[in-house]
Amino acid sequence: MVIIMGQGATVEHVDAVIASVEREGFSAFVNPGVERKVIAVLGVVDSRKTPLVEKFEALDGVERVTLISEPYKLSSRNYHPQDTVVRVGSVEIGGPEVVVIAGPCSVESREQILEAAHAVKAGGAKLLRGGAFKPRTSPYSFQGLGRTGLEYLAEAREATGLPIVTEILDPFDLPVVSEFTDVFQVGARNMSNFRLLQLLGRTDKPVLLKRGPSSKLRDMLQAAEYIMVEGNTQVILCERGIVAFDDATRNTTDINAIPVLKQWSHLPVILDPSHSVGHTRWIPAIARAGVAAGADGLAIEVHPRPAEALSDGGQSLKPDQFRSLMVQLGRVAEAIGRHIGDEG
Ligand code: PEP
Ligand code: MN
Repeated sequence: MVIIMGQGATVEHVDAVIASVEREGFSAFVNPGVERKVIAVLGVVDSRKTPLVEKFEALDGVERVTLISEPYKLSSRNYHPQDTVVRVGSVEIGGPEVVVIAGPCSVESREQILEAAHAVKAGGAKLLRGGAFKPRTSPYSFQGLGRTGLEYLAEAREATGLPIVTEILDPFDLPVVSEFTDVFQVGARNMSNFRLLQLLGRTDKPVLLKRGPSSKLRDMLQAAEYIMVEGNTQVILCERGIVAFDDATRNTTDINAIPVLKQWSHLPVILDPSHSVGHTRWIPAIARAGVAAGADGLAIEVHPRPAEALSDGGQSLKPDQFRSLMVQLGRVAEAIGRHIGDEG
C-alpha cells in the first residue's frame, strides 16, 4: 500500500500520516519525490485492507491511497515513479550515461590489477571490477587473494581514480570488504542469501545485485527489497544470463530482462555480457545488444593476458578488444540518445 500526498501537503501532514501508519503496526518508508511525497506502508495488510485505505485517505494532506499488488514495494515504480540514479563518487548510474564497469574476473597480483585498471580507464570504463573473494564451483579452483586482493584494488583506485566494485561472498567478510570497496557486488549465487542482503542494506554503499541464474525477475526485485527495506536504497540490478537448455554459451542472456526491469522498477539496470555469454568472441555482440535494449551500464571482464587468467580467461577481453568495443558501444548509445564517456 502506498499513500500519495497532495501537492500542498506540509511536513506536519506527512509526519501525522507516518505516525498513523506506525500506530497501526506498520512501518512507513517515505519517498521524498520532487512533486509529491509518497509513503509506502510496509507489513502484512491482509484483511484490513479496506478499512486501512479509508482511514489513511481521510488524513489531512493525503491525495489517495493505492495498493501495490506486486510482492516488491520499495523497488517498484508504483512507489517511486522517477528513475533512481546511483552515485559512486562522480559517476552516476541510471542517468543518461551508459556506465561501463570493467576489469578482470579476479584480482591475481598487484601488477595484473594495476595493468588492467590503466587499460580499462584508457578505454573509457568508469568503474574498476575485480574479485578478491571468488565464488568458484570447485573448492580446488583459485579462491581469490582475499584482503591482499582488496589492498591491490585500492592501490589501482589510487593510481587511476576509478572507484572499485568487488564481490562480497559472506556476511563474515563485511568488515574487510567495506573497508576497501566503493560498491558491493552480490554474485549470482548469493542473490537469495537474505541475511547477506539485509546486512548490506544497513551499509551506506551501493550494492550491485546480480540475478540468480535460475531466478525470476520478480524474485530479483524481492531480493533488492531485502536491501532497501533496511535503509540502503542504492541498488543496481544486473542481468548476467540465466540457465536455459542450450549449452552453446555459458548462460543465456535474458535481454528481455532489461526493458522489463526498467518498467517494473526505478532502479538502474545493467548487463554483464561476459558471464551471460562466456566466450570472448560473442561478448561484443551481446554488449551492443544490451546498450540498444536500454541498459544503464555494462560490466565487462577485461584481462591484460586472458590466456594466463586464473579465472574466466575464456570470456575476458584483451585491452585492445575492449577499446574497440567501447567505440562501437558509443555509437549504439548515441543512436538511442545516450552516451558513453564524458562527451554527450
Ligand atoms: C563475477 O562477476 O566474476 C561473477 C562470479 O559473476 P556471477 O556472480 O554473475 O557468476
Ligand atoms: Mn568472472
